Amino acid sequence: MGKVGETTLEIDLGALEHNFRFLKSKIAAETKFLGVVKAFAYGSDIVTIAKKLESLGADYLAVAYVNEGVLLRDAGISIPILVFHPQPINFDRLIKHHLEPSIYSPRILKDFLKFAESAGIREYPIHIKFNTGLNRLGFWENDVDFIVEQLKKLNEIKVVSVFSHLAASEDPKEKEFSQRQIQTFQKICENLNGKLGYTPFRHMLNTSGIVNYPEAQFEMVRSGIGLYGYGNEEKVDQNLKPVASLKTVISQIHRIEPNESVGYNRAFKSEGFITTATLPLGHADGIGRHYGNGKSHVLIKGEKAPIIGNVCMDMIMVDISGIDCKEGDEVLVFGPNRSAEAFASSAQTISYEILTAISPRVKRVIINP
Ligand SMILES: *Cc1c(COP(=O)(O)O)cnc(C)c1O
Repeated sequence: MGKVGETTLEIDLGALEHNFRFLKSKIAAETKFLGVVKAFAYGSDIVTIAKKLESLGADYLAVAYVNEGVLLRDAGISIPILVFHPQPINFDRLIKHHLEPSIYSPRILKDFLKFAESAGIREYPIHIKFNTGLNRLGFWENDVDFIVEQLKKLNEIKVVSVFSHLAASEDPKEKEFSQRQIQTFQKICENLNGKLGYTPFRHMLNTSGIVNYPEAQFEMVRSGIGLYGYGNEEKVDQNLKPVASLKTVISQIHRIEPNESVGYNRAFKSEGFITTATLPLGHADGIGRHYGNGKSHVLIKGEKAPIIGNVCMDMIMVDISGIDCKEGDEVLVFGPNRSAEAFASSAQTISYEILTAISPRVKRVIINP
């Protein structure tokens, strides 16, 4: 193991390329690929990841909010960017940076058309989002007539694509529900196309959808977590490589006597003699308090060192009794040999949450560019 010297999130672009190629191998050559880079590219480094995906030939990128898209345009990204969840207050910045909005409700559609008209916008690309069962964002099936009627008022607005999102694409027990969502989506698209008089492209699958419902890839797929090396299932994970590795160092080692306590609120009490290491990584870096008090562990020299006591803002203490290590040695929190999914599940959460939690003060280092 090379020494990182301080808490570092290593971002492996070789792994990203591998995952991109694996996911592409699961879809038809003519199916477009959208790389989801919201939330700083799942907590890694949004600009670096977006540039790499652009160079690999991704057709589209997607972010959640307008701010994230502006950041990408400012960094020189020129491929189309879909914004999943824009707010009307940002429509001027959205248009100025040529970001493509998901239009997900009657209110958003009306506001966008009003804005586009007053700004004298021509030929602007939009994407219509339908709710088919997730019940989060999106028009309902019976909104089609309303959408078409509104769009007729401003012919310059072009529906580039129509999309929906599966609620449980990773869960085989929900196969019937997912298939019903796919059928509903198909029905909506047929109805909408007939009334629009042209044919926007369609997309519905996230990473687990790509693996489990390839028959519903339509004209594009949208992958996030898979690009970053996780697939919500062990058999998928085996084909993917984690992009982010969180590493830190041992700042100080203490020998603790029996009946001493460690950390705030004296939450940990020693029964016998133990050795502890203090690490420069705390809840302000993204390791929440739920990882403390023995719930999870880090790896030092390949051995498990449990996190003891409460997680502090800038530090955790781990039990290194019996591990042959010294101050300055490297510590692995998650990465290729210890998946973020396994680390997350020790605290009853998921890879998505721990990856996106790693805060900006953790140094990012790009490897295998
Ligand atoms: C985040 C998101 C995705 C990506 O999902 P993954 O499970 O990370 O592949 C796709 N589509 C929408 C609408 C999303 O919000």
